[in-house]
Amino acid sequence: MSESVVNHFIRSMIEADRARGAHGGRVATRFPPEPNGYLHLGHAKSICLNFGMARDFGGTCNLRFDDTNPAKEDIEYVNAIQDDVRWLGFEWANLLHASDYFEVFYLCGEKLIQQGLAYVCDLSADDVRAYRGTLTEPGRNSPFRERSMEENLDLFRRMRAGEFDDGARTLRAKIDMASPNINLRDPALYRIRKVSHQNTGDTWCIYPMYDYAHCISDAVEGITHSLCTLEFEDHRPLYDWCLDQLDIEHDLALTAPLREKGLHMTPSRSRQTEFARGNLDYTVMSKRKLIALVQDGLVDGWNDPRMPTLSGARRRGFPPAAIRTFWERMGYSKQVATIEYSVLEACVREVLDAEASRRLAVLDPLPIEIINLPAEHRETLRFSNHPKDEAQGTREVPFSPRLYIEREDFAEVPPKGFHRLVPGGEVRLRGVGIVRCEDVVKNDAGDVTELRVSLDTSTRPGLPGAERKVKGTIHWVCAHSAIEAEVRLYDRLFDVPNPDDDSDGKTYRDHLNPGSKRIVRGYLEASLANLAAESRFQFERLGYFVSDRFDHTAEKPVFNRIVTLRDSYAKAAKS
Ligand code: ATP
Ligand code: MG
Repeated sequence: MSESVVNHFIRSMIEADRARGAHGGRVATRFPPEPNGYLHLGHAKSICLNFGMARDFGGTCNLRFDDTNPAKEDIEYVNAIQDDVRWLGFEWANLLHASDYFEVFYLCGEKLIQQGLAYVCDLSADDVRAYRGTLTEPGRNSPFRERSMEENLDLFRRMRAGEFDDGARTLRAKIDMASPNINLRDPALYRIRKVSHQNTGDTWCIYPMYDYAHCISDAVEGITHSLCTLEFEDHRPLYDWCLDQLDIEHDLALTAPLREKGLHMTPSRSRQTEFARGNLDYTVMSKRKLIALVQDGLVDGWNDPRMPTLSGARRRGFPPAAIRTFWERMGYSKQVATIEYSVLEACVREVLDAEASRRLAVLDPLPIEIINLPAEHRETLRFSNHPKDEAQGTREVPFSPRLYIEREDFAEVPPKGFHRLVPGGEVRLRGVGIVRCEDVVKNDAGDVTELRVSLDTSTRPGLPGAERKVKGTIHWVCAHSAIEAEVRLYDRLFDVPNPDDDSDGKTYRDHLNPGSKRIVRGYLEASLANLAAESRFQFERLGYFVSDRFDHTAEKPVFNRIVTLRDSYAKAAKS
């Protein structure tokens, strides 16, 4: 299945920009994660957009770690983010860090001061807040706003030199304390933090604020379209203000430190465009909540197959094409909406239905004995691997008189409409023929332990009798050759559509689905022996399964259920 091209306002905008020759028709985007957690399905929306637009317009997309915060950037996160982006099917033009540009940010600060557009402010954080005003009241000018350019430059250099304590001073843009947009009320550009940084060590004790660093990073890298989520809409005037004042693409002195380091980029004036975040029901996607789930042991790590992280989706067995198709189809707009998780699952089924080979497996075995074949009878049947894709070929499936069927495919007292095996009744064994249940064997407790059946040999495939109709067909595996496997049956992690909703006093922790993970012992047809990890199959009538990325071995097979064949949630909702 290929991702179809869906039109959306960002694609149209880029087409229009190219039509009028903006940036010489060039398209350059970036994906800028903060390396403070694992990527999730929401991030994938932004990844698919940024890399997708670059791909569709023959442009480039950078992966830029937004590491302006000297908090502990965990190398684990940095590596996981790269793995996840590649797994989704994308490759970056350049791998960069915002910290690569610290010297540029600094020179930009000096330039703004020299232009009379930034000043060093001594107000405490509390005072800054008090001076800022509110949505309905204008702010007041800082008493330090009218410092001379020389004094500001001297103080900024001394901030950099480490002469002042954390929080003692900030560098602020001089814009408009009465602006209706609070982001323009002399926002801080730099603060003092005497913390060492994962990439630059103790070189810096002043660190740039996000809004200031982000627009400069975009311009320095020659990003043409800076695509971000809606919460930055109100920040766009500041983005534009900084870039308009700094004119980075024409002021080569600002980017000279990069060329000295051997980083050759062609700066340009980038434009920010916002789109709505992607939200899914039945899950949470805030990094804070995901970290809590991991740290409090409520899931088995970041890549627990129930987690909405990309590494969780991968381990669960979701094909990356399904995630790309999902976001492509959902499109990009400014309309905030929560998408049903079942829509994503439908994309997963669609990809797997087309790609996954079929196999036989029994997860809740009931032994049956075909009494009219000799006990030592052994046979090899040939099954096609895919009903709609002949190119997937065929395989050998061992058959003997001793088989396992699913316990639920037999009912001693059948409910109405039950078309499978009942005492004295008939059913077709997939690829074998029609059997009749002759005898039900029970233990002392009265539990059914085995069925004795007879095979109507005139109904075997290829014989005229094979056309004879019975209502049900069930699957089976040969008990002599089946391989045992641990099978992990996953379901949604939360049992309510909106676990983030705490208006009833309950939090997402109160809505964990107790049945979200169940482990059973399964019996698989012999051809599933010696598989590589991350091999995906449809187990007929049961769902799609993947050999576990980490725990599966040839000696100890472990499979995860990716998704059931049908949407059980939709069914539950209807009935
Ligand atoms: P934080 O609150 O830690 O900043 P974040 O979700 O913004 O979390 P980032 O690492 O900053 O995480 O995100 C990288 C990029 O992914 C940003 O451009 C952000 O807008 C985008 N992004 C994050 N979540 C979503 C989402 N649910 N849908 C679309 N884009 C998203
Ligand atoms: Mg962010």
